[in-house]
Amino acid sequence: MKVAFLGLGDIGELMAAHLARPPFELVVWNRTASRAEEFARAHPARVASTPADAVKDAQVIITCLPSSVEVEAVLHGENGMLESLRKGSVLVDCTSGDPPTSRSIAAELGGRGVEFIDAPVSGGTTAAKAGTLTVMWGGEESVFERVRPVIEAFGKRIVHAGGIGAGDALKAVNNALLAVHILSAAEGLVVLLKAGVNPTTALEVINASSGRSNSSENLIPQRVLTRAFPRTFRLALLEKDIGIAAVLAEDLDVHTPIISLAAERFHEAREKLGEEADHVEAVKMVEEENGVIIK
Ligand code: NDP
Repeated sequence: MKVAFLGLGDIGELMAAHLARPPFELVVWNRTASRAEEFARAHPARVASTPADAVKDAQVIITCLPSSVEVEAVLHGENGMLESLRKGSVLVDCTSGDPPTSRSIAAELGGRGVEFIDAPVSGGTTAAKAGTLTVMWGGEESVFERVRPVIEAFGKRIVHAGGIGAGDALKAVNNALLAVHILSAAEGLVVLLKAGVNPTTALEVINASSGRSNSSENLIPQRVLTRAFPRTFRLALLEKDIGIAAVLAEDLDVHTPIISLAAERFHEAREKLGEEADHVEAVKMVEEENGVIIK
């Protein structure tokens, strides 16, 4: 099966590695070509010179870009995918995108005999490396069945969220919850520090109790208490996801003050910490505001 993979970023590169083996024939494209060349030195894959070159023979195309804006650009730009997508091929967008743009891309491609599903992922770089990502997809069953082997190469829990855009919606809301949990766990630990409770002691109790979350169980012990803060998922991308969730809520007339506040706080964090910061570094903003370090 001929597969093209566009976007070898923090997570894309790890996902593409699972497709660089039979029964797949892999072509990769990345905006910064050196990254694609480095990938092809480590894995059997052809490096394409442009998005159009990448997709010209592909039966399945995977995009894994920051947002739907870049997916549109790689589709419509000069030497874009639209110039050479084959009739009968399927574009699987693993970007955490936004539902309206995914629906409009699907409609446009549908007119050219190309199918589309949105298929964002969760589980982070650890699950991407292990090939055990959760994949939430939106679209038609019959289309999914044609790309199932490709998605199963990097996904373990694969869930049909609904129509096109439903995968994006589910991903955005999941990540809005992640953002709320990071900030609320950090705030709670700062309060407890000031009340004289050591963070390790606090987490021992919280993680055996109802206040726990992935942030309290994994992110804070592994990345904050150790001060390691590895870059696995950019804070800027999480801010983008909460923004998608906030717009979705507004479009659906749902009152979501907590999600809106998390969106504002992550916007502040991005301004303070910059484009390259990891999402867990948002904790540093809470620490700085309160003059303490959680360790
Ligand atoms: P990165 O920021 O690490 O990588 C982004 C990729 O997109 C790079 O290949 C980059 O190319 C490319 N890119 C950026 N702008 C453009 C553009 N204008 N035109 C063409 N290519 C462009 O992102 P991730 O790999 O972390 O994330 C990719 C998607 O997956 C995002 O939607 C993210 O929200 C989602 N995701 C990420 C997770 C993670 O743990 N990292 C977890 C779950 C979902 P270049 O190398 O040239 O910069």
